[in-house]
Amino acid sequence: MTVEILPKRQLGDTGLLVSSLGLGTVKFGRNSGVKYPSSFKLPNDDAVRNIIAMCKERGVNLIDTAPAYGHSEERLGQLLTDRKDWLICTKVGEEFDSSGSYFDFSAKHTKHSIERSLKRLRSDYLDIVLVHSDGNDMDIIEKTDCFETLQRLKEEGLIRAFGMSTKTAEGGLATLKHSDMAMVMYNSSYADEESVIDYARSHRKGIFVKKALNSGHAVSGSQNEEDPVKTNLEFIYSHAGVSSVIIGSINTVHMSHNIDAAISAQTTSY
Ligand code: NAP
Repeated sequence: MTVEILPKRQLGDTGLLVSSLGLGTVKFGRNSGVKYPSSFKLPNDDAVRNIIAMCKERGVNLIDTAPAYGHSEERLGQLLTDRKDWLICTKVGEEFDSSGSYFDFSAKHTKHSIERSLKRLRSDYLDIVLVHSDGNDMDIIEKTDCFETLQRLKEEGLIRAFGMSTKTAEGGLATLKHSDMAMVMYNSSYADEESVIDYARSHRKGIFVKKALNSGHAVSGSQNEEDPVKTNLEFIYSHAGVSSVIIGSINTVHMSHNIDAAISAQTTSY
């Protein structure tokens, strides 16, 4: 039987070719302070290895992590043995510990965070770094030196591309004016940031979509006959300008279904 492989797409003008579906890894490293529909145990090493191997076999080359995802970066550093075959996206700005999340977008903390991610991921470069917004997108861009610091680190060759995971359309548009890409929430029940995707398309910038399944609530609360994974992926891919959709999962059957649905949903219109 032939295995169907996900198509790849250009990440704006960065030169990076990303799989049109990426693997989100919050659930690899953190199970407290999360908003998923049900509680869960962190997967063991074999379960993480299995989902990574299945994703790779189906053409996924993009994996999304963050310092705020608990042990996610460290686990990827240990378990992702074929580093060069992957594009790793990590973040700066948000920290998470037993007292919850806190944010630091200063140049000093940004540099410290990048050095720590390199160590944890056992790599001498990071493919993509996104600023993990606290919701005040414009303040981060206008009142901190986080973007300038990432630009310098890019010129030094430590990172290949950067942008911000934003929470507002205004912040998404400003992000694209000052960086390579934005990560935006977009699904069939939330399209408030669609103008960011349109701007990215016309200016050759990259877009990652987060929360395509509304953090699992689209699936668990679905009353419809129609498969919510299919509905949401058809909705997202029918809009030109999306580079990749990052779906989080620790379930190989779920992720395999998401890959099938992503392949079926894609047209030539991006
Ligand atoms: P999501 O991808 O919309 O949903 C993930 C949830 O859906 C998980 O609980 C997963 O459970 C479930 N799921 C996935 N496929 C399924 C299927 N086929 N059938 C049933 N359930 C399914 O939401 P997300 O994890 O919040 O966001 C995705 C990724 O985006 C994250 O992992 C992270 O990498 C990134 N993200 C970034 C930010 C940011 O601010 N930068 C914020 C949120 C998310 P199972 O594990 O059981 O499959």
